[in-house]
Formats: sequence, structure tokens, C-alpha cells
Amino acid sequence: MLPDKKGYFGKFGGRFVPETIMAALLELENAYKKVDKTFKNELSGYFKNYVGRPTPLYFAKRLSDKLGLKIYLKREDLCHTGAHKINNALGQVLLAKKMGKTRIIAETGAGQHGVATATVCALFKMKCDVYMGDEDIKRQALNVFRMKLLGANVIPVHSGSKTLKDAINEAFRDWVTNVKHTHYLLGSCVGPHPYPMIVRDFQSVIGKEAKKQIIEIEGKLPDYLVACVGGGSNSIGLFYPFYKDKSVKFIGVEAGGLGISSNKHAATLVKGDPGILHGTKSFVLQNNSGQIKETHSVSAGLDYPGVGPEHAFYKQIHRADYVAIDDKKAIEGFKLLSETEGIIPALEPAHAIAYLKYYPKKLKNRSASRRIIIVCLSGRGDKDIDIVKNQLQIKY
Ligand SMILES: *Cc1c(COP(=O)(O)O)cnc(C)c1O
Repeated sequence: MLPDKKGYFGKFGGRFVPETIMAALLELENAYKKVDKTFKNELSGYFKNYVGRPTPLYFAKRLSDKLGLKIYLKREDLCHTGAHKINNALGQVLLAKKMGKTRIIAETGAGQHGVATATVCALFKMKCDVYMGDEDIKRQALNVFRMKLLGANVIPVHSGSKTLKDAINEAFRDWVTNVKHTHYLLGSCVGPHPYPMIVRDFQSVIGKEAKKQIIEIEGKLPDYLVACVGGGSNSIGLFYPFYKDKSVKFIGVEAGGLGISSNKHAATLVKGDPGILHGTKSFVLQNNSGQIKETHSVSAGLDYPGVGPEHAFYKQIHRADYVAIDDKKAIEGFKLLSETEGIIPALEPAHAIAYLKYYPKKLKNRSASRRIIIVCLSGRGDKDIDIVKNQLQIKY
């Protein structure tokens, strides 16, 4: 099973880090290798009683009829704190506790991972510092306040573009100097080995549950899995448990921003090239001299110029297809799900819903029976209401 011992998925992944971080990564890798039954039972207990797992696999009948497909939604929006991020945050905080750490640091873009981290730190009485770009602090005032209520300290980052990428840089810098007592709780399946593996494993609860649920309901495997891809954690969490089921096709939906020919997007796998960012080899958005490009998406959670190395590998071996959906279509997806099912999605999974609306033909075959599609509904839309309101220019 991938990755290999050095953390490679094919030619992607690895650890491109200075010596000082190496020791911390090895300590984390060793602690993770020792994860045992007791640890897994403890985590499952929190998943069940604290997060509210298993999340439902909901048959979206009205949406299905409208699009001529058979669509099931994996309801990660119903997780405590409103998105899948808590699955990984809980797993890693338990690991940190096992390693004897007393302080957690994290990065956050939109604030969802910051909130999930602040939540588990309150639960386990850990000191919590969250790095957040100055721009994002301005854009996401509500989540900043939530983190503070939960007892976390939010540290503004003024370097670079003052967004997620810069917050990750600062978190790594902090980790190097304070590694003895500090765990860096990285929020997606990116960064140097062992992070992409650890985050995938904790998020795989999504796909494991979905597989069991669809077999109970339909008596067979789905035809397609569709999920949005920022760093790639909710999608890999859904895909990975189906990796060996070759009949199940994977579709990852990236942020097309203002259009993939506009240079204002975050479609890393669709438009990027192989390169190194934050200690891992994967696809990145870079210019001709290798500088990381600025990205744009209406949804802050997808606004990242890199992507997890396992996705780069899936792309290379054609295990998954990656597509881009632009801001405008994502907003339509947001409205469509709200109006047909009474579920207001986060703008990130609204990209996946919009894909179903715009490319239903690609998801059909000639036989009469409808294709079965599972979409990961990675989070709920409360945090995005103001953004959508502005985009639609609605006045109240
Ligand atoms: C953070 C976030 C994402 C994007 O992150 P991935 O690691 O790609 O899953 C998607 N959806 C929601 C709701 C998020 O909060």
C-alpha cells in the first residue's frame, strides 16, 4: 500500500525539508507507526459521540430526478463544527497527546481547520496557536471569533500574499523552534511525509462508511465518486477505500475561479505542473521561473496553489479525473442544492454539485439504469452566506 517507506506515491510526495524539520517528522512517523487498537477504539469513540459519526449517506431524490442521475450525498456537513476537518483534527490531537505534546499549532485559510483545531484543543486542554494570513483574518471575522471563544490564540501572518500558503510557512517555522512540546496539526493531505498519509488515513472514515452504506442501500458499488479538491483531504478520504475497486470512477473538482485561462483560479491538477511546495513533490501552480502563483477562488477552502501528492499520483496513473468548475457555476451549484434538497452547502462542495449540473452526460451510459454517484458534501454553507449574498447582489 502507498506511500512507500520514504513517503512516495509513485514519483510524488517525499520530504523536501531542512534537517531541523526532519527530526520532528521522524518522531511523528514513529508515533504513528505505534498506533494500536486502543488508539483506534478511542478515536472511534470520539467519532461516534463527539463528531456524530457515521454521517448519513442521503439519497438526494429531487436533485437526482432533475439531473437524470442517482445521487447520494455523504453528509460531512453534519459533522460537529460543520465540515470534515474535525476527523483529521481529532486523530492528530490524540496522536499529539500520545507523543506527550502540550501545545498545538495549526494554519488556517478560511478558518474551518482553525476552528476544528481550536475545538479539539479545548476538548483535550491543549495550548493552541493558529497562524492565519492577515487578508484571511479580515475576510473571515466570524471564524476568528469562534477560535478565540474556544480559547485559541490567532496569530496574524503579514508575509507574502498574507493567505494560507504564508500561514503554512509560518507554522513550519514555529514548529522547528518549539518541536519538543509542540505538534503541528496540518489541515490537509499536503506537506512532507508522513502528513499526506496520516491525514488520508484519518479522513478515510468518509469512504469506509460510504462503502458500507451504499452496499446496504443499493447492494452494489457506486459508479462514480465526486468530491471537491483543495489540498485534497475530503476527496482522498472518500476515494481511498475504493482504490482497488476499478469499476468505481473518481472525479476531483478543482476551483476554476474566474476561468482556467484567466490565471485567476486554483485548478492545480488541471493547469499546474510538477514542482515542490511545502516540503512535498506534487503539482503546483508556478510561473516560468518557478515562483508560486497567486490563486483565486470564491471559496477560500479551495484557494491553495498546491495539492496532495497522492492526487498527483492518481492523475498520473489515470486512476482519477480532475476537472475545474468556475466561481459562477459554483454559485449555481450552491443555489441548486439549497432549492432542491433544502441543504445549503459550503462553497467548496458546491463546485462538485455544479459539476453534476454541467456535465451530467459524462456521468451517464447508454443503459437504462441510472448511474450511482456519491458526492462528498464536505461542509455546510453558513460560513459562506455573506459571500454568496454579495455575488448574487441580493439586498435584504
Ligand atoms: C477545507 C475545506 C475543503 C478543502 O480541503 P480539502 O483538504 O481539499 O478537503 C473542502 N470543503 C470544506 C467544507 C472545507 O472546509
